[in-house]
Amino acid sequence: MSDEKIFEDVACTVCACVCDDLRVTVRDGRISDYQPFCSRIGNWFEQQNSRRSVPATRSGTEISLDTAIDETASILRQAKSPLFYGLSQSSTEGQRAAVALADRLGATIDTTASEGHAPSILALQQVGESTCSLGEIRNRADLVIYWGSDPIQWQPRHLERYSMRQGMLTPGGRSDRTLVVVDTKRTATSNLADIVLNIEPHQDFEALWTLRGLLQGIDPTDRASTGLPLDQLKDLARRMRSCRCGIIFFGYGLVLQPMGNHNVEALLQLVTDLNQETRFYARRMRVGGDVSGADSVLCWQTGYPFSVNFARGYPRYNPNEYSAADMLERGEPDAVVLVGSTRLESFPSAALKHLERIPTILIEHPYGVVPFQPELRITTAVYGIHRHGTAYRMDEVPIPLRPLLASTDPSDGDVLSRIHAAL
Ligand code: SF4
Repeated sequence: MSDEKIFEDVACTVCACVCDDLRVTVRDGRISDYQPFCSRIGNWFEQQNSRRSVPATRSGTEISLDTAIDETASILRQAKSPLFYGLSQSSTEGQRAAVALADRLGATIDTTASEGHAPSILALQQVGESTCSLGEIRNRADLVIYWGSDPIQWQPRHLERYSMRQGMLTPGGRSDRTLVVVDTKRTATSNLADIVLNIEPHQDFEALWTLRGLLQGIDPTDRASTGLPLDQLKDLARRMRSCRCGIIFFGYGLVLQPMGNHNVEALLQLVTDLNQETRFYARRMRVGGDVSGADSVLCWQTGYPFSVNFARGYPRYNPNEYSAADMLERGEPDAVVLVGSTRLESFPSAALKHLERIPTILIEHPYGVVPFQPELRITTAVYGIHRHGTAYRMDEVPIPLRPLLASTDPSDGDVLSRIHAAL
C-alpha cells in the first residue's frame, strides 16, 4: 500500500516570491504532485526526487563528512584572507552560522546581492525608500508598474498573487488595476499589460527625472533627452498622480546598468515626490530565493547588508573593496567558502580563474552548479524540503519553512557550526 501525505501551505524558495500557499503531495517518499502550477518549480521538485548524493567529495572523490569538516577547518585555520560568499539559497540559521564563522576568522563575507541589487541598496542608503508589504499591494494598489523587470519569467506567480488578485480595496482583481510595463524590449509580462512603454536603452534616469519635473509642472526643454516620448511620460505622470495607491516594482533592467544606483535614486525620489499627492511605493524585484534574508541577517548581525570585512575585529562595509567578485579579480582571498551561492557565472573571468587557484569549499545541495571543480564539496539538506528554516520574501516578510522529505544530510548551518567548533 502506498504511503501518501498531503502538506498544505507549503512555502517555495525557488524565487524571492517565497509563495507559501502550495499544496504538495508526497507519495512513497517522493513529491508526486503540487498545486497551483508554477513554471519554475517542477524541475526543482524533480531534482529532490532524483537526489542521489554523497556526503562530501575532495576533487570529485568521495570522502566522509567528518574528513571534509576537518580539512575545511585546516584550510581556514591557515588562510590569511578567507572569503565567504553566497547565502541566497540558504536560511536564517545558515546565514547566521556563516556570519559567526566569518567573524571568528576575521574573514570577508559577501552575498549574491553584490552581483544583483547592490546598486539599489546603495541608492536607498542615500535617499531612503517608501516600502510596503506585498499584501498591501494586493489589497490597495490600483496602478502597478513593472520597470525593467519581467516577473512572468523570473517570479512567475507574482502577478497572480499580488498584482492581479482581488483584495480588500480591489474586489475586481485585475479589472480594478492598471498594469504598466516599462522596458527596452517586449517581455512575457508586457503581453499582459494595459500600457507598454518601450524605453530607450540606458535612458531610465532621463525618463524618471522628466517624470519628476512633470509632476512639479516643469516641461523638459526641446532638446532634452527623455528616454520615452513626452506624451507617454505626461500620461504616465497623470496616472501616477491620480491613482489611489501605486507601486513601481523595479528589476535588473533598471539596476544592472552603468550608474544603476543613480537610476534607482531617481526612482526612489520620484516615489517620495508622489507621496506628497497620493500613496505610492517602490519595491525591488528580488530573484534569489532567500537573498532578502541574507541582507537582513547580515544587517542585524553586522549593521551592513553585504560586502562586510572582519579583518580588524569589527565589521567594515565597503562595496567593491569587499565584494567577492572584485576581491577575487584582484587575487586577494586565499581560501573561499561558497554557501548557498548563485550568480557565479556573472563573475569576471579573472575572478573565476583565481577561484581555481585557491582552496574552495562548496557547501551546497547536490544540484548547485559551479563553473569550476571545488577542492571540497559538502552536500547539505535543503531548507523547506528536508529541514525547518526561515526564508525572507522579497518584501522582507519572514516565511517559515517546513520539511517535506526525510534526509540524513546536515543543513548548511550544521556544517558551518561544526567547522566553527573544529577551529
Ligand atoms: S513564483 Fe517563485 S516562489 Fe512562487 S511558486 Fe513560483 S518559483 Fe516558487
